[in-house]
This record gives sequence, C-alpha cells and structure tokens, in this order.
Amino acid sequence: MVRKIGVLTSGGDAPGMNSAIRAVTRIALNNGVEVVGVHNGYKGLLEGTFEAMDRHSVSDIQDRGGTKLGSARLPEFREEAIQNECIKNMKREGIEALVVIGGDGSYRGALALTQKGINCIGLPGTIDNDIPGTDFTIGFDTALRTCVENVDKLRDTSSSHHRCSLVEVMGNRCGDLALYTAIACGAEMVISPETGYNELETLERLRYLSDAVRKNHALVIISEKICDVNALAKKVSLNTNFSGRATVLGHIQRGGTPTATDRMLASRMGEKAVDLLMEGIGGHCVGIIDNEITSMPIDEALGRPKKSRKHLYRLFDRLV
Ligand code: ATP
Repeated sequence: MVRKIGVLTSGGDAPGMNSAIRAVTRIALNNGVEVVGVHNGYKGLLEGTFEAMDRHSVSDIQDRGGTKLGSARLPEFREEAIQNECIKNMKREGIEALVVIGGDGSYRGALALTQKGINCIGLPGTIDNDIPGTDFTIGFDTALRTCVENVDKLRDTSSSHHRCSLVEVMGNRCGDLALYTAIACGAEMVISPETGYNELETLERLRYLSDAVRKNHALVIISEKICDVNALAKKVSLNTNFSGRATVLGHIQRGGTPTATDRMLASRMGEKAVDLLMEGIGGHCVGIIDNEITSMPIDEALGRPKKSRKHLYRLFDRLV
C-alpha cells in the first residue's frame, strides 16, 4: 500500500488544475496517504522544492485559475541522468508515487518515471483539448467560455459596421476550441486543422456571404498556427465587400476562474488518480470518455487517434 504520493502540474497551466490538486490531496489524506506538493513541475523534482500538504493547503483554491503549485518546462527531463537525480530526491523525501497534471509531454515524463519504478498517473490538464485518450481535458471548458464571451462582444460591433471579424483562438493543432466557439457563437466559417485552409476559397466564401446572401457581418473562427490572421484581414478588406478585422484572443484564454464543469472534471479525475495509485497501478492516464471517467496505459493513449468531431463539423455546416 502506497504511503506517500507527490502531485505536480507541468507544461502550460490550465484553469481547473487547482481542483485536481485539491481532489488528489484531500482524497489521499482521507485514505491515510501522505501528500507532497511538488513546485514547478519536473523542475521541482530536480530542485527538491517540496511542500508537505495538509487539508488546509488546498483550501480556497478551486475558484482560482492557474495552478497553486506553479508549472514549468524542463526539457532536460528527457535525459535518464536527470530522471535518476529526480528519483533520488523523491526517495529522500519518501515519495513513492506521483500524480502528474499536464499535457502529452508531461505524460511521457510520467511514463519514464513509472518505467524506473515510481508509479505515476497522468491527468490531462490543458485548454487545447489536444490530448489523446480523453474526450475533454481540464481547462477546455473554461477557455471555451472565455472565447464565447469575447466573440459575442465582437459580433455586436461587427454587425454595426459591415465587418468581417477574423478571430484566432488557441488549440495547438487541435480544432476543438475553434469548432465549439464557432457553433456556440453562430460563426459563418470555422478554419481549423480538421477543415484545412485555402485562402482563395475563404475569400470566395466571404464574397458569397456578402454579395449573394447579403449578410451585414461575418464571423470567422480560426485555430492558431494556420495562417496570419492580420494579413488575411487585409485581404478580406481588399477582395470582398466586408471590412476585415483580426483579433487574436491570446493568453486571456488560459486564465479566469474555472467553470463548474472544469472543477467537476478535475475533481473526478483526481479521485481516479488516487484510486489507481492505491491499487498499485502506474503508467496510466485518466480520461473522460462518453461521460465516464476511464484510465488506460499512457503509451496506449499516446498511440490513439484524436476523437473524431466529424459529427460536430456536420452540425456546424447545417447551422450556417
Ligand atoms: P502543454 O503542451 O499542453 O503545455 P505538455 O505537458 O505537453 O503540456 P511539454 O512542454 O511538452 O508540455 O512537456 C512538459 C514537460 O514534460 C517538459 O518540460 C519535460 O520536463 C517533460 N517531458 C516532455 N517530453 C518528455 C519526454 N519525451 N520524456 C520525458 N519527459 C518529457
């Protein structure tokens, strides 16, 4: 039976991570398992920045965005010598197992530690929803709320001015944030890794919306890393009857008080992580599939294709 576990957050932060830390801490303590908070991801394992957690350590944190434990990237953690150094520090502290909250890079670190004898469980924490092995990640719903609130505001002003608003949202090569925002805000177009991008076709479509459908505004939601939205806005102004305006939502998508959905998801996933470690299981990641909390080996999850959103792209097309 595991006596002491660690918990850390790694990679980009995401709203809801604090609920996961809270769930892991409270549920472990209530089962007689000691908990150590590791500051700043794998960097904290290397530097030995550990914090003994009691139930008060995680009081009043669920409504706060970001992560109470801090997050960092430590590229050297891919090296075996650094992993061994971290394991030495963990053993010195009495940490026998670990919950890692982060993205797929963090999962790979968790797998490496498990293969060296420290059971680790990965929880998907990122606003991008780009982690395989789960339908949704912790932070996605809050980022979606931020996108919807801001795009709604842009819609108000763009309809008054015969404008085409081109809005870039995050997603790191996953189109979910763009697709969900587009459906929820009633956008005219969505451009994502799944739809592909063709500049001429985009301009043609906007001309059709302006001249044939006689729309007085158009909203286009675009995933990051696809095109230069500022350049595209200029081309829209030059080549269509809309005045093109670009907005890059940027890092505001990463902040804000977590939604109830993210807090619930993080709490349920945190519970599962502790249960798995208490059963002596490591090298797994937790997910939510068809609204059931699940777990599977990390290497299996990383080899899986991302969940298809074909039905939602079809829905988008039927709503335009
Ligand atoms: P996100 O990309 O959503 O912000 P992530 O967890 O994918 O989150 P990464 O920067 O890829 O972010 O990884 C976070 C950390 O995990 C890295 O800084 C490194 O310490 C560790 N890591 C990443 N890849 C590996 C790997 N192949 N082996 C061991 N550790 C890794």
